[in-house]
Amino acid sequence: MSAEPAATTPSGSRYARQAVLDVIGRAGQDALASSTILVVGCGALGSTQAELLARAGVGRLILVDRDVLELHNLQRQILFDEQDVRELMPKAAAAARRLRAINSEIVIDAQVTDVTATNVTELIRPADLVIDGTDNFETRYLINDAAVQSGKPWVYGGVLGTDGTVMAVRPGLGPCLRCIFPDPPDAHLLPTCETQGVLNTAVVWVAALQVTEAFKLLVRDSAAEFRLTALDVWRGTTHSVVVHRNETCVCCAERRFEFLSDERGSSSTVFCGRNAVQVTPEKRTAPDFSDLCQRLAPLGKVTMNGLVLEFGCKDRRIVVFPDGRVLVMGTTDTAEARSLVAKYIGS
Ligand SMILES: [Zn+2]
Repeated sequence: MSAEPAATTPSGSRYARQAVLDVIGRAGQDALASSTILVVGCGALGSTQAELLARAGVGRLILVDRDVLELHNLQRQILFDEQDVRELMPKAAAAARRLRAINSEIVIDAQVTDVTATNVTELIRPADLVIDGTDNFETRYLINDAAVQSGKPWVYGGVLGTDGTVMAVRPGLGPCLRCIFPDPPDAHLLPTCETQGVLNTAVVWVAALQVTEAFKLLVRDSAAEFRLTALDVWRGTTHSVVVHRNETCVCCAERRFEFLSDERGSSSTVFCGRNAVQVTPEKRTAPDFSDLCQRLAPLGKVTMNGLVLEFGCKDRRIVVFPDGRVLVMGTTDTAEARSLVAKYIGS
């Protein structure tokens, strides 16, 4: 065994076991090194994808996530630990910190924000590929619109219980998300991680399949087919079907990007599987954290970790993000959340 510190190991040998694979090769490894991937969401799927991509030597990762870490995340969000939870770290920032320790030779950008119709196009612009680490269809349809509009590939993935689904989208060549699922399912009718649970091995399997699809796209694997793959990790089953473009698809055939034209004002969103509501101000401005600290300190417990401010009042916790969003934890009542935000934070 070599005692040489990893940081001084030449990068040529770092990826030796991967570059020697006939499906990757030296040219494939160089392609990964010169690629930028946007990872949307740094929860269970996103953090696992990000770790695999960082270890594989993808040159630049842009991580976007809107949430902070809580203890119940650790069962399946394998990049994080209890210290991250104690510090109430935003997931994107905690992921970036850990990934920089894993691979200091790549560039990692972390953005603590939510993906909306307003910013999705700008987020995708520098990326060669987008990978779906989200937990909601609202964001996936936004990604699909923006990716098809800009002609960039993306890899859809979803996981719940012991099941998962994966599909790579190559705009102009194969079907997009709306070719297969023309409209988002009604979010109120869908089971969530909270009600149905999720097995961590299903997460890892889905993330592994998604990252493999990303590798195939980046090394330009010519044999890649257009397939939708459904798996059940408990039963050990995989079903993969060839999928086709819908010649009348609103998105990729008619090129009407309905989700991108959704102008969002002030809004509130109940987070999937969470006893929490996000309140987004109409005009997003960076909060004045020192002013907030002074105002809130007499009213409850205020904690500031350099990234987010947390205010505890009775059995509610209010987290203020640098982009102006506010997360009210301990309720799913949007009216109550908005009134607490108006009362304590201002709008
Ligand atoms: Zn389509």
